[in-house]
Amino acid sequence: MTSSAPPAATVGILGGGQLARMLAEAGHPLGLAFRVVDPKPGASASRVTEQVVADYDSTDALAALADCDVVTCDFENVPADALAALEARVPVRPSARALAAAQDRWVEKNRFQALDMATAEFARVDSRPELLEAIDRIGLPAVLKTRRMGYDGKGQFVLKTAEDLEPAWQALGDRPLILEQWVPFDHECSITVVRGTDGAKRFYPLTRTWHADGILRLAVAPCPAADRLRAEAERMAGALADDLDYVGCLTLELFADGDRLLANEFAPRAHNSAHWTIEGARCSQFENHLRAVCGWPLGDPGLREGISVMFNFIGDLPDRSVWLAVDGLAWHDYGKTARSGRKVGHATLSAPDVGSLKALRAGLDGELSATVREALDSILS
Ligand code: AMP
Repeated sequence: MTSSAPPAATVGILGGGQLARMLAEAGHPLGLAFRVVDPKPGASASRVTEQVVADYDSTDALAALADCDVVTCDFENVPADALAALEARVPVRPSARALAAAQDRWVEKNRFQALDMATAEFARVDSRPELLEAIDRIGLPAVLKTRRMGYDGKGQFVLKTAEDLEPAWQALGDRPLILEQWVPFDHECSITVVRGTDGAKRFYPLTRTWHADGILRLAVAPCPAADRLRAEAERMAGALADDLDYVGCLTLELFADGDRLLANEFAPRAHNSAHWTIEGARCSQFENHLRAVCGWPLGDPGLREGISVMFNFIGDLPDRSVWLAVDGLAWHDYGKTARSGRKVGHATLSAPDVGSLKALRAGLDGELSATVREALDSILS
């Protein structure tokens, strides 16, 4: 006779990266069990939960996930056929339709506009003449992006002058594209909403984000400009979540230009800009995503700490003995091998107020590059 009770529910996850890992870490205290599917053996989540090594659209994947209570994803580019097959057998939350809405930048931006969410000007580009027409209409600078499979600045080229056109077309011209006006934003920010199976919604504080080379480096919550921007950010993210009948956490990435917010893209999953919520919010994005997909009451997304900063570790981890010496710092090592451009971990530094945060941050002076230090100082000034 076994002495352990069955799990409250078993959650299947397509994708075994760090998001799946942090979902599992958040779900264990809730009594949940997890099964992740990832074709790469030893995926980040496999250190903390069971991994089935299989292609997403294989019969092995389908069999492993179909007997879970609910299935969710840790990335948005899950093959549509795999999700459709799963949806016939088990609740998939967020739905295949919600994921599809985020997979194509053209479809995504048209939906934003239909929901009265402002965007940069954009044009569909399927041929070289269409690119020239789009540049005529939108002007330069502009950004040429692949419609599908782009993330962390991959699959995009900034076109500053006519000379940039040829290399960009050589690199991307074989795929469906979108040309976007370059937004001279004051700063970027993002908002995370969690929506339950009953349509209830709760919003995390607006988060200020800072990217370099298209990759998120810093997130600061709450965003210093939240008082001015929060209501519109919530309106946009709320409208999008309702329109998609969304279940789980969704993050909307925004450009702030004066008092105007322009929608850039959304992520139908847990998002890097809300990792600070693990320590900085009363209920983290990971726990709330799980509460939502399990049909449970949503948790409080309010601040636990006055202010939190998340530092992303890209490529390799810094010296943990220096970072762990800083009070109020939480360390997250994803257990991934070092590789250029790869997200291998993050740290969150929380404090009661900006003054205390700056004092604590001084302990990291030698660890931060000059550009990161300057960016953070300007956000906190
Ligand atoms: P994305 O993959 O669309 O999220 O782009 C990654 C990053 O590139 C954004 O977070 C911005 O920092 C920058 N970026 C993308 N599109 C634009 C744009 N139209 N105008 C200005 N910056 C952009």
